[in-house]
Amino acid sequence: MTPSIDIHEDGHVHTRLCNHAVGEMEDYVEQAVQRGLTTLVFLEHLETDIRYPQPSWLNDEDFAVYFREGERLKQQYRGVIDIRLGAETGFNPAAIPIIRRRLADYPFERVGVSCHFYRHGDVHLNLLSNRRQSLDKFAAIGADTVITAYFNALTEAVATLDCDVLCHLDAVLRHLPGICFNDGHKRQIEQLLDSMQAKNVALEINTSGFDYRGTPFPADWIVAAALRRGISLRAGSDAHQPSEVGRHFDRLPAYLAGIKSLSTSGATK
Ligand SMILES: [Zn+2]
Ligand SMILES: [Zn+2]
Repeated sequence: MTPSIDIHEDGHVHTRLCNHAVGEMEDYVEQAVQRGLTTLVFLEHLETDIRYPQPSWLNDEDFAVYFREGERLKQQYRGVIDIRLGAETGFNPAAIPIIRRRLADYPFERVGVSCHFYRHGDVHLNLLSNRRQSLDKFAAIGADTVITAYFNALTEAVATLDCDVLCHLDAVLRHLPGICFNDGHKRQIEQLLDSMQAKNVALEINTSGFDYRGTPFPADWIVAAALRRGISLRAGSDAHQPSEVGRHFDRLPAYLAGIKSLSTSGATK
């Protein structure tokens, strides 16, 4: 049997409100309707106490616009498509109480967790950036050190935040050439999956990976390890422009059917 995933729900889209995506919320809804989706979940970037020159997240005023427009769209598209308003919460280990308070204060209908930033001295570096300058800095710090900190952060995030889904689990340093995980990182991933299983946190199958590297985030062996634990899967396009809503979802059933055999054969690499 194919592992169950709802390919009529896109659980992860952004809008122009985050400063690095384009398109109004309604443009994303329209695209989702055209694609035949039944549910669209906005998962806008929420970051806390990050020192970075170009904010790539929503401030409080942006979130006010987000909820106002989101509620209007829910009414307008009632009976056509189910719209949910969530957040992709960037974890910052130095700001846990504030993050928890913000998640409690906003009426988010889904909370995703990710980790986009690495603290380096007084500033943060973007772990998902393709900019030469930041890739050089990460190379100087040492990719292994950075990846270890990243998986520690995600495990702490799952343990300390009320969250529903873990986003693009292995996207860390996705633009660093020759990136690979060592045995220690693989053990960290297994521990992270254990915490997700214990707290009933779903794993996102992020189809932006098809465009970046030919397969979704995370890698097949991680999905297989999640399925062995009974962790549920959610599809997310991580759309940053309306045309990306639901991207490659038609490829997921066959892709996951292949992974199912991997998960039952016990292979882990
Ligand atoms: Zn983004
Ligand atoms: Zn995202």
